[in-house]
Amino acid sequence: MLRRLTRNDIVGVGMTSQRTRDRLIERLRDKGIADERVLEVMRHVPRHLFMDEALSTRAYEDSSLPIGCGQTISQPFIVARMTEALIASLPAGGGRVLEIGTGSGYQAAVLSGLVESVHTVERIGYLLERARERFRQLELRNIHVKYADGHMGWPDQGPFDGIMLTAAPERVPDELFSQLAPTGTLIAPVGGAAGQRLFAYTRTGDNGLERQELDMVSFVPFLGGRD
Ligand code: SAH
Repeated sequence: MLRRLTRNDIVGVGMTSQRTRDRLIERLRDKGIADERVLEVMRHVPRHLFMDEALSTRAYEDSSLPIGCGQTISQPFIVARMTEALIASLPAGGGRVLEIGTGSGYQAAVLSGLVESVHTVERIGYLLERARERFRQLELRNIHVKYADGHMGWPDQGPFDGIMLTAAPERVPDELFSQLAPTGTLIAPVGGAAGQRLFAYTRTGDNGLERQELDMVSFVPFLGGRD
């Protein structure tokens, strides 16, 4: 159980202050993030609360950081890039989004401020419980969590307007594409040790899929089963 947060914990001081957060946002803008909605949400989500306190002074560096269990919280630039690509295709009002790989919960928290609802699946129970507690403390009530192997998505809650994988499979499971709404987009890092590429898959009229490459990336692997 995490302790109760005070307003100061959330707002942050020193290396976790709003000024430090603002500097990160300017950096993201310089690197090419143009969607003001994404920048505004990331300006306010307290990333320092999604990692161990010992690392929180580094929370607003543009880098991925360890969150335990051999996993990482993604680099802010990549979070911004993936969020920007996903929401560009969503219906007005936000739509419903599925994330595979809750991890710290940071990506889900960013999405939470931009979409109608976020369903997020994690295969490591310890990480999921910590993320769930953070969502509760920050009163992010439109996030729903599930402890499961994300290969199967979340069938009884689909279809989703957008799907995002934050761990890299060698190949995106067909089951996930089948939970994508007719105009939906799925964003995923794909590949193995030799290198990964970030793709956006969009449905085409004839029920095919169009694939666009966004970036070279380095995510933890998409694994099977539960831990
Ligand atoms: N979105 C996260 C990134 C966490 S790292 C964040 O913002 O912090 C990726 C996460 O994906 C890890 O926690 C890992 O356990 C999880 N993961 C890997 N394969 C998975 C699978 N098949 N189903 C669900 N979660 C998976």
